[in-house]
Amino acid sequence: MEKKEQLYEGKAKKVFATEDPELLIVQYKDDATAFNGLKKGTIAGKGVINNQMSNRLMQLLERRGVPTHFVRELSQRETLVKKVQIVPLEVIIRNISAGSFAKRYGVEEGIVFDEPTIEYSYKNDALGDPLLNARHALALKLVTKEELATIEALSFQVNDLLKEFWAGCGVTLVDFKMEFGRLSDGTIVLADEISPDTCRLWDSETKEKLDKDRFRRDLGGVEEAYAEIMRRLEEHLK
Ligand code: ADP
Ligand code: UDP
Repeated sequence: MEKKEQLYEGKAKKVFATEDPELLIVQYKDDATAFNGLKKGTIAGKGVINNQMSNRLMQLLERRGVPTHFVRELSQRETLVKKVQIVPLEVIIRNISAGSFAKRYGVEEGIVFDEPTIEYSYKNDALGDPLLNARHALALKLVTKEELATIEALSFQVNDLLKEFWAGCGVTLVDFKMEFGRLSDGTIVLADEISPDTCRLWDSETKEKLDKDRFRRDLGGVEEAYAEIMRRLEEHLK
């Protein structure tokens, strides 16, 4: 499948058209941003790791019945995906307090929840991705009620599957962000990426951070953490 014109360049990926109107090619970059683009940098090798990790996880989810945009890995940084109309919501599932949750509610990081939480932000860079609830999303006509029910059910299913998978790698899935989209027939599928950029992943024993928080918080060892989490995933998939 050949790359045609570039349709979009985002903060972490480029999106290209293909000869098939239903398919796109995504290309993963090493660029990293945080705090709504305020902090910029590069993480050497990140694009390769995020591409490969996202693809392995999406394939695992597909096998367990979660529909995704994944079609085929084309190269180290490029993947063929089904073109979707992205639902402009960032869906965040949390199993343990961290990040903006800890800050917003004034609690420490690391509190293990009895049940996972779900929250939505409006995917709108100009507004700084504001938090909204399900009824706000319906009021803004970002999704239908039926779509939202599907998205919520899929999100908790993905969480259960990924939590179990990562536990097998000695890794705790703290929280993560998902994006969903509509295929041309309206089917809701998991899109975008699942990677250390979009998940908090802690070593189960030491609680060491093996994700983008190392970049956000200037903890050092960023490249090493991405390599280590990928190594564990591959070791577990052997
Ligand atoms: P951002 O737009 O936040 O800077 P990226 O750099 O990751 O993010 O850019 C990738 C873009 O492609 C995102 O806007 C994402 O919503 C979109 N996208 C992801 N998967 C698909 C897909 N299957 N079809 C269409 N768009 C997609
Ligand atoms: N996240 C993301 N993209 C965003 C915002 C959050 O991938 O634009 C992920 C982030 O990596 C973390 C989870 O969603 O795994 C929850 O992030 P949080 O709300 O705590 O925000 P942050 O601390 O990143 O500001």
